[in-house]
Amino acid sequence: MSHPADFLFWGMPVISTLFQHAPSPLERLALPEFESAGLSVWIKRDDLLRMGPGLALCGNKWRKLKYNLAAARSGGHTQLLTFGGAFSNHIAAVAGAGAAFKFKTIGIIRGEAPPGLNPTLRFARECGMHLHFVDRATFRSKENPAFLHRLEQAYGPFYHLPEGGTNEKALEGAREIVTECQYQQPTLKADYWCVSAGTGGTAAGMTLEAKPGSKVLAFSALKGDFLKRDLASLLAGYPAAGDWALITDFHFGGYAKYRPELLQFLNHFYQEQGIALDPIYTGKLLFGLVDLAKHRFFPKGSTLVAVHTGGLQGIHGFNERFGGLLHYTP
Ligand SMILES: *Cc1c(COP(=O)(O)O)cnc(C)c1O
Repeated sequence: MSHPADFLFWGMPVISTLFQHAPSPLERLALPEFESAGLSVWIKRDDLLRMGPGLALCGNKWRKLKYNLAAARSGGHTQLLTFGGAFSNHIAAVAGAGAAFKFKTIGIIRGEAPPGLNPTLRFARECGMHLHFVDRATFRSKENPAFLHRLEQAYGPFYHLPEGGTNEKALEGAREIVTECQYQQPTLKADYWCVSAGTGGTAAGMTLEAKPGSKVLAFSALKGDFLKRDLASLLAGYPAAGDWALITDFHFGGYAKYRPELLQFLNHFYQEQGIALDPIYTGKLLFGLVDLAKHRFFPKGSTLVAVHTGGLQGIHGFNERFGGLLHYTP
């Protein structure tokens, strides 16, 4: 039996030495806090997927782009256009995809160009991405057909990827996180699938595959509970989707926010486990899981799978911005 992700880009001009493709390892994560709560915890190492130069096209960004890239290719597109903030993992991933799969890429970036750019944008430019900066008001029309039409007049036809990369094809890619785990450990019966959420696309995709009796826990990286609505609407067309819940206690204030205890946790986790987490998404997820385990949120005997969705490219930018608070470089 071959795993579900094999040979998708058969025949495509790819730089194969840059590829570390699926399945990513599924490993036990035996933290003392999990053991003493009677939990069996696994970590799906999608951070180790590498589909292009650098650290950008990995994790859930690869899962979400995969079928979009295939669609862009089979639709005869030569350009990808997308939207994002100056530190966006999605922008970096699309730029990396352009370099690996030979698409031209255009990134519409929110706000002014930072002087000298930042590590994310420098990487994007090195990958050949054309960076087009727009003010915040203009950026908000990112889904407006008239605005997209103007962009098409300026740049020629493109395959449009929404900000964050979440669309139907992204969900198809994300559901493979679950199918892959089931293929790797056929006896593993996850009670909880735990994943960080920004747009909720990854969590939604996993929910499509989650078996009855298991539940997807989406840990919001952002303040507010708008994600509950977003997730519900992403899943509206799928009546057979599984059970899910949004966890909103571990966003630490939003994207570029942190607290000393989060940084301390990340540095300690790297020291003990040798696994680099990012401060925006996966760090908050693991922090949250340890905290919930300490407070006996999960029934004793539960099996959890936590997804390491990647995001490692953001560490350089975080450290450059805040002065080396994280003591590891992926
Ligand atoms: C983008 C991202 C997320 C959020 O994914 P969504 O599908 O938008 O919810 C989670 N983790 C990492 C590392 C990311 O880069």
